[in-house]
Amino acid sequence: MAMGKIKDCNEVVSKLYEFLDGELTEERKLVIREHLDECSPCLEAFEFETELRAMVSSKSREICPEGLKNKIAKLINSDGREVQIPSE
Ligand SMILES: [Zn+2]
Repeated sequence: MAMGKIKDCNEVVSKLYEFLDGELTEERKLVIREHLDECSPCLEAFEFETELRAMVSSKSREICPEGLKNKIAKLINSDGREVQIPSE
């Protein structure tokens, strides 16, 4: 069984966020990649985090839906005033 430079899986998992945030040096990334190659539980955790992040970021891009616009429109209407966007 090959031993990577990182023996402690907790160390790898604790670095996953920094890895995904791109806050690690190339050298550190390589060490973690080497560990992931040899350690499937860490690889699974890594892939899970990667997918989770992709999901969260794609959702947050759609976070300004029609419903929110309607809510804002209702707030304006309940005030009884029309909001006019001044034209130049
Ligand atoms: Zn591991």
